[in-house]
Amino acid sequence: MHNKHSWAEPYKIKMIEPIVITTKEFRQKALKEAGYNTFLLESKDVYIDLLTDSGTSAMSDRQWAGLMMGDEAYAGSRNFYHLEKTIQDYYSYKHVVPTHQGRAAEHMLSQILIKKGDYVPGNMYFTTTKLHQEMAGGTFVDIIVDEAHDPNSLYKFKGDVDLNKLQKLIDKVGADKIPYVSIASTVNMAGGQPMSMANLKALRELTNKYGIKIMHDMTRIAENAFMIQLNEEGYANKTVAEIVHEFNSLTDGATMSAKKDALVNIGGFLAVNDYDTFDKARNMVVVYEGLHTYGGMAGRDMEALAIGIKESVQDDHIAARVGQVFYLGQKLLDMGVPIVKPVGTHGVFLDAKAFLAHVPQDKFPAQTLAAELYLDSGVRAMERGVVSAGRNKETGEHNYPKLELVRLTIPRRVYTQAHMDVIAESVQRVFKNRENIKGMKMVYEPEYLRFFQARFEKL
Ligand SMILES: *Cc1c(COP(=O)(O)O)cnc(C)c1O
Repeated sequence: MHNKHSWAEPYKIKMIEPIVITTKEFRQKALKEAGYNTFLLESKDVYIDLLTDSGTSAMSDRQWAGLMMGDEAYAGSRNFYHLEKTIQDYYSYKHVVPTHQGRAAEHMLSQILIKKGDYVPGNMYFTTTKLHQEMAGGTFVDIIVDEAHDPNSLYKFKGDVDLNKLQKLIDKVGADKIPYVSIASTVNMAGGQPMSMANLKALRELTNKYGIKIMHDMTRIAENAFMIQLNEEGYANKTVAEIVHEFNSLTDGATMSAKKDALVNIGGFLAVNDYDTFDKARNMVVVYEGLHTYGGMAGRDMEALAIGIKESVQDDHIAARVGQVFYLGQKLLDMGVPIVKPVGTHGVFLDAKAFLAHVPQDKFPAQTLAAELYLDSGVRAMERGVVSAGRNKETGEHNYPKLELVRLTIPRRVYTQAHMDVIAESVQRVFKNRENIKGMKMVYEPEYLRFFQARFEKL
């Protein structure tokens, strides 16, 4: 199928968006004003924006044409039916409730399925997913394999669930206290690591025994499917589209942030096979999002999404998308920069604990490193460490995650190989200068998802 060693974009550029190269003095000032939090920088002050791959993809000419085909009827837009059929055909799920983005789907799913006192096991947490589970009265339990917490483990499927951990939880709290297992395909917080089909099949068997559902955060399912095609026995000759379908078929429903894999700037949905859950969600969506045939999206957004889903599972597309991330990752490895291995599918994750080994975790090494990178070159990255992990609900102490990372997230179809070279060289410069970097202190801390708005000062 695809060649493991070479890749090139299966498209050419038709329109460009200028970006500005700034001076160090300028960036120093901008960074200070942003409280050393890259989330608070103005995008016009950023040269290469690797904050996130969320909503930052470039749409195709087909998708842009789709925008013109928007049917903005309040009820029953034809774009909804196109989207619904696309999700049924490509993603296998029966019932669809559109939402404005992923967290709205997480909100509904959590409120519908989780009761106070329930436990929700998952293959590592994601920020918004876990928060909605907790707000519904549940407790998240991490059941990912130990390898996922080790940035140096070369295990190929670090997104796998440890079935022993799940069995232990079932034995301890009882299956009736576990409404579903929450799995993510490619685990964002583990560094964009995939889950294997074999592991999902085994999980399906175990959960079937106890009547526990599997709910799938399918935000990056095409990237996960590509990794299965690349590395899992028996899948080399299947298409990514086939693997996506098979993977989804083993789960009971999904939440989707369409701003990632599905190549649109806004959108999401909840998709389930069970009619009862669907019926409740369809009723709930009118309270929080909009009517159940648009759920927070314009007709044109739904059209662009339906087209984006089809493009996202094309083998050429996904091989080039992940190939570009691997290119950057390999360059950094060759430079001796500590990164999470194996390289993830949507970004390269700098191991800030190893990078700034002299900065203790309560001085926010990853936050500091992200700030230094912007200062060096105008490249904007994101902290995924102690700031993102928030505080313990009971003790009020910081959660200290094993992984203290800076995420260089690559938007889809946006930057070129030359941009990747500039990024790598900047990381290398900061790495060479690392001994001079001190940590930071937090001077403002918001209550929820603090990483978005927290402010810092240099020590
Ligand atoms: C982005 C993301 C979400 C949340 O989706 P939004 O569209 O940002 O609300 C949930 N899970 C994962 C894995 C994500 O990456």
